[in-house]
Amino acid sequence: MRKHIFNAGPCKLSDSLLKNSAEAVLELNGIGQSLIEVSHRSKDFQAVMDETVELMKEVLSIPEGYSVLFLGGGASLQFAMIPYNFMKSKAFYVNTGTWSSKAIKEAKLWGEVVEVSSKDKNFTYYPKGYEIPKDVDYVHVTSNNTIAGTESFEDLDVNVPLISDMSSDFLSRPVDVSKYAMIYGGAQKNLGPAGATFIIIKDDFLNKVVADRPIPSMLQYGIHVDKGSMYNTPPVFNIFAIRETLRWVKSMGGVTAMEKLAKDRADLLYNAIDESNMFESPINKEDRSRMNIVFVMKEQYKALEADFIAFAGERNCVGIKGHRSVGGFRASTYNASTIEDVQALVQAMKDFEAKNA
Ligand SMILES: *Cc1c(COP(=O)(O)O)cnc(C)c1O
Repeated sequence: MRKHIFNAGPCKLSDSLLKNSAEAVLELNGIGQSLIEVSHRSKDFQAVMDETVELMKEVLSIPEGYSVLFLGGGASLQFAMIPYNFMKSKAFYVNTGTWSSKAIKEAKLWGEVVEVSSKDKNFTYYPKGYEIPKDVDYVHVTSNNTIAGTESFEDLDVNVPLISDMSSDFLSRPVDVSKYAMIYGGAQKNLGPAGATFIIIKDDFLNKVVADRPIPSMLQYGIHVDKGSMYNTPPVFNIFAIRETLRWVKSMGGVTAMEKLAKDRADLLYNAIDESNMFESPINKEDRSRMNIVFVMKEQYKALEADFIAFAGERNCVGIKGHRSVGGFRASTYNASTIEDVQALVQAMKDFEAKNA
C-alpha cells in the first residue's frame, strides 16, 4: 500500500511521474535504449528537454524575455551563484529562516548584506512593510520557509531586481513572473526528484547586471543560457521526471487548480489543529505555509509527541516529525499530496486526542 507521505523533501510525487519515469528508465520511446543510456545530445533527449522548458513557460505563464534552466548543485549552489554573478557591492535579503540564513552567509562573501529578519520571534511570521534601500543590486526573498512553516503569497513590487527562492512552493499558486529578475529552487519539493535545480531568469537582468569579477564557466548563468542547460551533461533523469510533473500539473488544471488544492489541504489541517485541545500552531495565522504545516503539542501534552508520531505511523502517515531545529511536527503537503492524505492525518490526530486527552 502506498503510504500517506508527508516528507519535507524529497517528498511525495505524482503517480504518473513514478510510473512513466520507471518505464523510461527501462526504455525511452521504444528506441532500444534507456533514458539514462541515451546521449543527452540525441534528438530523443533533446525533445524531452525542449518540452520541459516549453511546459515550464506554459504552466507558469512565463512572459517573453525569460530563460529556463535545469542545472545541478541544488538551491544551495544558487545561494552562492547569485551573489557571485550579481552582487557588485550590496544586496537586500529578507531573512525568514534556515534557508535564507544560508543564502545570506554566501552573499556576505561578496559584499554587504542589508537584512530584514523575523528572527526576533523565531521565524514564526513573515516580515512586511519594510524599506528597501535604493542602491542595492538585488532583493532576495524565500517565498516559502520549509523549516519554519511560513509563506508569503505576494509577488512584491520593488524597484530593484527581485530574486525568489521558490524551492518549496513552486507551482502551488499562480505567480506574476514579470515582477521577478529570477526565480529558482531545488526540484525535490514540488517538481521532481532530488538532483536538479530549476532557474527562471530574466534575460535583461542577466545581460545588464553582472558583477565585475572573474567567474568560473560552470558558475556563469550566461553560459548555461547560451547552451540551453547543456554546457555540461544535464541531470537527464530529473529533467524527464520534471516533465512528468509539468504534464501532470497541466492535466490537473494548472497552477490555479494547484492553488485550490493547496488551500483545501491546508485549511483542513489547520482547522483540525485550531479546533484541537491537544495540538497548536506556533505560526502567525496570516503567514502560515500551505506547503509545510508546522504544529506542536500544547505544553501539558509535550511528552506525548513521540507517541503521536508512532500512532500516525500505524495509520500509514509518514514523515511528520518536525525539523530538528523546530521540534514538534511538520506535515509537508506539496502539490502531489491529496485531500485523502490529509484526511488520514486529521483522523489520526482526532483519534489520538480522544484516547489520550
Ligand atoms: C530545501 C531547500 C533548499 C535547499 O535545497 P537543496 O536543493 O538541497 O540545495 C533551499 N531553499 C529552500 C526554501 C528549501 O526548501
